[in-house]
Parts: sequence; structure tokens; C-alpha cells
Amino acid sequence: MTKYEYVWLDGYQPEPFLRSKVKVTNDQTPPEWSFDGSSTLQADGGSSDCILTPVQEYTNPLFGDKLVMCGVQTGSREVHPSNTRHAASEVASDEWWFGFEQEYFLTNPDGTILGWEDGIPSKPQGEYYCGVGAANVKGREVSEAHLEACLEAGIELTGTNAEVALGQWEYQCLGKGIKAGDDLWMSRYLLNKVAEDFDVSVNIHPKPQSGDWNGSGMHTNFSNKEMRESGSEELFNSMCEKLGKVHEDAINNYGSDNDQRLTGLHETQKITEFSFGVSDRGASIRIPIYTVEHDWNGYLEDRRPASNADPYKIINHIISTLS
Ligand code: MG
Repeated sequence: MTKYEYVWLDGYQPEPFLRSKVKVTNDQTPPEWSFDGSSTLQADGGSSDCILTPVQEYTNPLFGDKLVMCGVQTGSREVHPSNTRHAASEVASDEWWFGFEQEYFLTNPDGTILGWEDGIPSKPQGEYYCGVGAANVKGREVSEAHLEACLEAGIELTGTNAEVALGQWEYQCLGKGIKAGDDLWMSRYLLNKVAEDFDVSVNIHPKPQSGDWNGSGMHTNFSNKEMRESGSEELFNSMCEKLGKVHEDAINNYGSDNDQRLTGLHETQKITEFSFGVSDRGASIRIPIYTVEHDWNGYLEDRRPASNADPYKIINHIISTLS
């Protein structure tokens, strides 16, 4: 018997939550499976069945045998409106690589950020980023267990670090084509599940703490074959200009409440403005020095996506704009 842990996105707005359930079967591959869509804002009670269609399989590092990322279909076998993966999969090919920098806060079950139980931390931001010591970092054990779990699952995390605010962390997740989106969603699932073991929750709101505290983003590094292998200054500039022409569309797809984060402060550009520049962390798009130094072969970093953004929507926006 094989234990498959099915994972999917529900119908909540503006961002979906992750759901899962376990199937035990003799089947060699995970079969399609139905669920009660009326409990996930994906169907009415009178016609509640929705269908899970397996799209990506992983070794399950925490339980049973396999993790199964699923798309959702309606009971009449149409692409469900909540299924943002479908549109992204129509444009994404493996020549497109994405490196997502997922930032997040760890909280107690009551929602207070780790280290903030007695209110605002006594020290301002400064010593927390990549810090060490019990006064400077909270929740390292979660970050480390999550990294191990992702690597065991076959999800390519390329690094982790303590972030600028106390209780804030980041990991970087690299993938190709549509699998980049699957991997990021599954890495979020594993993060939430690993955190359960420590009685800790994960908050990916882009600005959980107002004031002079960093918000959370999901900087998105991306490239295609031409950018990596036969790039030029003209190519990179023209791509940035194309992205600038659809800036509003990007913001609509890059996560809710992002206006609280994209203020022009804390290494961000204002949400109403678009700019790009070499090494510029105050720009919407940064052209990394790596790219310039490699004779304009490399990648771009879109700094606008919020930490709560749907990676399928980001992939769809970037590839549709640039191809
Ligand atoms: Mg960061």
C-alpha cells in the first residue's frame, strides 16, 4: 500500500490557502480523487464534488510515501476558476528558470511574532539579519528542519537566512518552468507542516508589523536561455521596458496588501512607480551585477512580488510579457 498526501490550493481570495488529505491505495501512481469543494469555497453544497488531478510528485520527507501536488477541476471536468496553475502551464517551458526568495515571519499560535511576546523588541533592526545568538534570532530550528525536508523531497532550496526583522526568515527556491511554481507551493506546505511540530505558525503577509520594520517579499529572479547564453545590454533593457509597460498588471498579480510594503522605504520602490537599474535595490527590477560582469549574460530580479504572491501568477505574468 502507498500513502499519498494530496496537496491543493483552495478557493479563498485574494490568496488561496493550502489543503491536503491522505489517500492509501495499491495504485502505482496517484489516481484522480474527489473532495468536498463546498468546504473550500470551490463549489456549492448542492453540487459539491471537485476533482484533484495530480500534476507533480515528491518523496514525502515527513509522513507516508509521496507528496502529490494537484490541480483542481470542477465536477464537470473543467478547469476550476481557482486553478491558476493551468494558465501558467500553457506558457511555461523549462527554458525559463525562476529563483523565488520567500520571506516569512514565524508566529506563536495566537499570532504574535516569535520574539515579540512582550511587545516591540528592545533593539531596532540591525543585528537580526543573518544574526546569531538567542537575542538576535528566533525560530532557527524551524528554518533548518524545513530546509532538510525540502531537500529530501527533491525541492531545490539553494539557501536560507535570518532576515532583517526579529522572527523573520527567508529561503530561496529554484526551479524550471511550471515546476518552479509547484515547488514553491509545496515548499510552503512543508514549511507550515514542519512548523506544526514546534507549535509555531507561518505568516506570509507582506507587512505583518507596521512601523520601521521590514515587510516580507518574494523577490523573483528569472531568466530564459537567451538571457543566460546570448544576452546583451539592449536585451536586458528592452525586457525591463516591456515589464514596465504592464506594471499595473504585475501589481494586480503580485499579492494583496503589497501597497503596505512597496512604499519606497526598506529597499523597495513605490507601488505606483516603475524603475529598473544595475544593482539598484530601490528599483522595481534590479539588474544584478552578476549579469553585467558576465558580459550581459545572466538573469533579472523582479523585486515587486509580495511574500503572499501566487508563484503561478508571477510565472504567467513574466513569461507572457516577455515572449
Ligand atoms: Mg531577503
